[in-house]
Amino acid sequence: MLPLVSAFGRLGEENAFAVLARATELARSGRDIINLGIGQPDFPTPAHIVEAGIQALRDGHHGYTPATGILPLREAVAGDLHRRFNVEVSPESVMIVPGGKVTMFMAILMFGEPGAEILYPDPGFPIYRSMIEFTGATPIPVPIREENGFAFSAEETLSLITPRTRLLILNSPANPTGGVTPKAEIDALVAGLARHPNVAIMSDEIYGTMTYDGEAHVSLLQYPELRDRLIYLDGASKTYAMTGWRLGWSVWPKPLYDAARKLAVNSHSCVNAATQWAGVAALNGPQDCVAEMVAEFDRRRAIVVEGLNKLPGVSCIRPKGAFYAFPNVKQTGWKAKTLASALLEDAGVATIGGPDFGVHGEGYIRLSYANSAENILKALERMGDFLNRRNAA
Ligand code: PLP
Repeated sequence: MLPLVSAFGRLGEENAFAVLARATELARSGRDIINLGIGQPDFPTPAHIVEAGIQALRDGHHGYTPATGILPLREAVAGDLHRRFNVEVSPESVMIVPGGKVTMFMAILMFGEPGAEILYPDPGFPIYRSMIEFTGATPIPVPIREENGFAFSAEETLSLITPRTRLLILNSPANPTGGVTPKAEIDALVAGLARHPNVAIMSDEIYGTMTYDGEAHVSLLQYPELRDRLIYLDGASKTYAMTGWRLGWSVWPKPLYDAARKLAVNSHSCVNAATQWAGVAALNGPQDCVAEMVAEFDRRRAIVVEGLNKLPGVSCIRPKGAFYAFPNVKQTGWKAKTLASALLEDAGVATIGGPDFGVHGEGYIRLSYANSAENILKALERMGDFLNRRNAA
């Protein structure tokens, strides 16, 4: 026996990876599986970004870089934030990290300890809660409700803050719901946070380029009154279809930046150099590739929502961002996780049960529409056939 420290007993994971493994296994055994489970764009990384990565390797960028990232990339991030949100961000407060996850890992490590409370969205990205538990802090779920369009409620969020609250995690556009919180609600939250100056905020805006219906993304960076306690999380994974490159970035308030740098030095040293140069090309290059991907997601969004609403016992509100639909399946009579599992095993459609994103996810399943329109239509047909054929287990 090699007993691990007890914190590992509290560390969770992402069931999306387990579903992916099972879907791959079924496909290998000859089954025709449509994967609407995984949260990654189905597009290749745009060619000019790939070329920049290859060129960097040819140019000899083979060594360590500064732990905080190369200056041209930190400048490119600052430039991108200025272009998108009209905000001034110093490259000195930008940190380059190996994926969006690393920023939440660092932020939660900085504020989580026994006795501390950390607020996080539920349903939400499962790693928030997993990491909060790991640190020994108390996870306080902020319910994200369908009747609220899957936006977070400023009033409810503020009501959950106590003198023990150290960190508030926000995510809009959101995984797994596709919910986008309207500006008025964010305004109200920010106004209320003035009464809680000792609470740090981590805003996960990894889907910030993916909003629909002409609605501009509102960044927490646009609120100067929060800047001295705001950690902004973003990255290339979703926007530039670069999940496998492992490239993320964050903006930190000055007092936290050096702590983040030290965590980088103690763990990954730096993001690999060629990936960072690819990131420079992504941010400084033409952005039509992003617009094209988002337009295609928008087209599929219409297909998914229309198709889901025709299924027996299923209803789905129109998600306003990201590339997820989060249909309500309560009227099917199935428990969400049992349904997701039966859909995979019986109908060959991979989805994720809502409870994998938190207790408030019961009654819902997540579908990622990062798959072709043709496959989405086929998956919807199979789901309809399954629901008509099988009674709830
Ligand atoms: N934040 C949210 C809300 C996500 O959905 C994801 C990935 O699915 C991440 C962060 C992590 O992204 P990355 O793959 O860049 O670590």
